[in-house]
Amino acid sequence: MEEIRKEESRENEVVSRNFIEQEIDKDLAEGVYDTVHTRFPPEPNGYLHIGHAKSILLNYGLAKEYGGKFNMRFDDTNPTKEKTEFVESIKADIEWLGADWEDRLFFASDYFEKMYEYAVFLIKKGKAYVSKLTADEMKEYRGTLTEPGREDPDRNRSVEENLDLFARMRSGEFEDGALTLRAKIDMASPNMNMRDPILYRVAHMTHHNTGDKWCIYPMYDFAHPLEDAIEGITHSICTLEFEDHRPLYDWVVRECECPNPPRQIEFAKLYLKNVVTGKRYIKKLVEEGSVDGWDDPRLVSIAALRRRGFTPESIKRFVELCGVSKANSIADYAMLEYCIREDLKTKAPRVMAALDPVKLIIDNYPEDKEEELEVLNNLDNEELGSRRVTFSRELYIDREDFMEEPPKKYFRMFPGNEVRLMNAYFVTCTGCIKDASGKITEIHATYDPLTFGGNAPDGRKVKGTIQWVNAKDCITAEVRLYENLIDEEKGVYNEDGSMNLNPDSLKILSDAKIEKSVKDAKAYDRFQFVRQGFFTVDSKDSAPGKPVFNRIVSLKSSFVLPKNKED
Ligand code: ATP
Ligand code: MG
Repeated sequence: MEEIRKEESRENEVVSRNFIEQEIDKDLAEGVYDTVHTRFPPEPNGYLHIGHAKSILLNYGLAKEYGGKFNMRFDDTNPTKEKTEFVESIKADIEWLGADWEDRLFFASDYFEKMYEYAVFLIKKGKAYVSKLTADEMKEYRGTLTEPGREDPDRNRSVEENLDLFARMRSGEFEDGALTLRAKIDMASPNMNMRDPILYRVAHMTHHNTGDKWCIYPMYDFAHPLEDAIEGITHSICTLEFEDHRPLYDWVVRECECPNPPRQIEFAKLYLKNVVTGKRYIKKLVEEGSVDGWDDPRLVSIAALRRRGFTPESIKRFVELCGVSKANSIADYAMLEYCIREDLKTKAPRVMAALDPVKLIIDNYPEDKEEELEVLNNLDNEELGSRRVTFSRELYIDREDFMEEPPKKYFRMFPGNEVRLMNAYFVTCTGCIKDASGKITEIHATYDPLTFGGNAPDGRKVKGTIQWVNAKDCITAEVRLYENLIDEEKGVYNEDGSMNLNPDSLKILSDAKIEKSVKDAKAYDRFQFVRQGFFTVDSKDSAPGKPVFNRIVSLKSSFVLPKNKED
């Protein structure tokens, strides 16, 4: 109930508007645009990660908020690194996040012909020319931050000649790198991006969409503004590293005389402390085999977060808490964990499991007896109903819930102590049996039949309550416990680009005992294993009737939500 009231107050609250909303409000008020049309433009050269989730939810959220439109566009103008596998994974990730592009799915490569026409238009206007400078020469002519650049010897070639050369570039007459098309802007501009940037290059490459149709490809800075303009985007939201490219963005849409040109607004990327977020680095981890593919649950690619058991709602909440700003900042992974914990608290059914099991034998319980107990699935959410759990003479409990010689304030099982077996009976420990190596193999106890349900009629109390499973019908499953992939003491990256990996980031428990109610759980089903954490059924390695569990997050944390983010 309290949770519901919280939700309501969040909705009614007058939230301060972020700087992008303020810009949009202004544009709408001044009549610069009469609608809001955003897009998410990934390059299909890898899997999306938590940073992209921020961009997706931001763009999609703005379109929703203003009753506008949201486009999904693959920015596939660079054929070298792009793959159809990535197109499919990106679509699946965005759908999962809930950003609905409806029927507006686009590929930048579908605009190659239009972009070519725009380039011809610029040549005719005297705003673009074909250059013969090699890459090295071009660098030399470019100047430095303190010195202006020099003019390209081809800068003043006639329009006719430029048109002819550009057409021949297209028809395949020239080798890779032999010629480029350059914008004619300003070789003395303090902004290096404006010193006659390249618009087109010759590259004989097969494209995943257009095949061998093209041997010239547009550069990002030329293609991107045109893609936005062609689709009628109003606000082209991108990350901070493109701030210095904005004058060029504006130049392209202005000189190409695009009607109702879009405008670019930059915001700061999302980074997570001690977590690998860059696509390039995630790729490296995948390729060198340090992780089990792009969706290894220790990564923060969206596919990995999904496999780890995160919900779209938790990611949305996390992104909201991070906020939108112009200043770079680093978020805490613990905040992401906080969001999933909060989300699953009432959503996930709770079950009992002994991750590192040891037998518990109730000596005074009849050998052939079995009882059924009706147990609520979630004490904080009765809507999740109840289930039946069986109890018998032989159980499993977690090894760490027993100590032969306990320290002070240890309230769980030890010889002579009475504890509650959750939902079942009070039991008093009578001792344990060990094997030759000293390892405890069995714990023994007696139960009080009058305490059925977990309460004593005489009102006596016990300080410890532990979970258990019935040895007769529980399942044995593999459970994977994850820690940070990165060694937090050393930080993520070294000078040479290598990463400091934590050797203990994955711990596999192959003999966990879990109550039978989870036997037929499906991939992505989520549970709280009481007193342990939240777990999900692994989507890759589980088999029917044989689930493998990933720990999403443990139950406890020292993380506190910063005061200004509480609601
Ligand atoms: P990476 O930096 O991980 O290689 P990218 O920027 O190369 O990612 P793109 O496919 O080009 O990946 O990005 C698609 C969109 O996602 C762009 O608008 C980009 O600015 C945005 N984006 C990428 N990384 C982040 C991030 N960490 N935080 C917020 N937005 C991001
Ligand atoms: Mg990129």
